[in-house]
Amino acid sequence: IFPGTVSASGQHATLGVMGGGQLGRMFVHAAQRLGYFTAVLDPDPHSPAGRASHHHIQTGYSDAHGLLQLSSLCAAVTTEFENVPAGALQALAVRCPVAPGAAAVAIAQDRIQEKAHFTASAAESGVMAGVSCAPYAVIETPEQLQAVPADLLPGILKTARMGYDGKGQVRVKDAAGLAAAWADLKQVPCVLEKMLPLKAECSVIVARGWQGDIVSFAPQCNVHVDGILAVTEAYEGNMPPALAARALDAAKSIANHIGYVGVLCVEFFVIEDGSAHGALVVNEMAPRPHNSGHYTLDACDVSQFDLQVHAMAGLPLPQPRQHSPAIMLNLLGEVWLDAQGRAHTPDWQAVLALPGTHLHLYGKTEARAGRKMGHLNITGADVASVKATARQAAAILG
Ligand code: ADP
Ligand code: MG
Repeated sequence: IFPGTVSASGQHATLGVMGGGQLGRMFVHAAQRLGYFTAVLDPDPHSPAGRASHHHIQTGYSDAHGLLQLSSLCAAVTTEFENVPAGALQALAVRCPVAPGAAAVAIAQDRIQEKAHFTASAAESGVMAGVSCAPYAVIETPEQLQAVPADLLPGILKTARMGYDGKGQVRVKDAAGLAAAWADLKQVPCVLEKMLPLKAECSVIVARGWQGDIVSFAPQCNVHVDGILAVTEAYEGNMPPALAARALDAAKSIANHIGYVGVLCVEFFVIEDGSAHGALVVNEMAPRPHNSGHYTLDACDVSQFDLQVHAMAGLPLPQPRQHSPAIMLNLLGEVWLDAQGRAHTPDWQAVLALPGTHLHLYGKTEARAGRKMGHLNITGADVASVKATARQAAAILG
């Protein structure tokens, strides 16, 4: 699908995305830069991506008419969130290429399937040896609850579906706490994971094409606060090289194992295991660009959103080159609220006066605590100056 081409019917080459959040908005920007028209399907008339797109189909994700409209308009369709109904992607795929496909998204939607997939990928590829999931148990029935091995506690009970940014998770200390937590979660299917001693967290973003070609960004290190990504550190030396190489190989195996097409992010824990550098544990995957890859917009010659466009449209997949060390600060709604919870305007004047700051705001009109409103990428000539600027920016933003 070549950008900027007009079909025999006079239609401009259009790329579509399921979901209108900030990830969809940055996808739309990348696609439009290449001359594509874009179409967003999202019921929210004020969605960040819908507002930036040529077409905005305002229906539910399973609405047959909306899906027909999207697949008729578009030469290919992608997704910007993993909870899009797999059936909707199947319906779209009857009429146009969809990347990633319904099967891959269905795996990422369900922690039980996801863990099985990680285990199978590890078994298939020698390179994933030593990269396993956290010890866990599936809890779908009262019998399974009773049978949970004591050594999984203390642990984190996670709903199998619909969890994000730490939502749908309860930390439990003992068997009684676990039973109460599962009751609170209305006994929906869950996994209980052993609470691991985290040294650090990292993620790897890869892009895989229709022919199985695969490119990647170097692993980035992530700091979460209250289950939500706060800071990403992307520079050489952010983690031990041997661990980084292993994470990269594991992410590629995970993509290859299911013939994935599109951008995939795999999250890892680095855990304390008595060794000097710690051990890698694979946590979860996102079938789309990821918050931890936003630094690629300013620190790399090709961003994760560029790769999403290239992969779905069957364009060549360039191996990205990072030209600057970078730190990304996530900007949550709190930045727009003062200590009393009243609205206030952050001092952008001061932030943008700092060297190498790149502000990205998503066009959301209402700031709420924990809501992702934007991010600040900081680049510079060397890691020390990037870190110094990040400290100054964080101090200004509170
Ligand atoms: P989400 O889908 O909300 O991102 P995650 O499973 O990635 O859910 O959990 C969110 C965060 O909670 C992780 O980034 C990590 O900081 C912490 N966490 C999750 N699972 C564990 C675990 N087994 N041990 C220790 N910390 C964990
Ligand atoms: Mg996560």
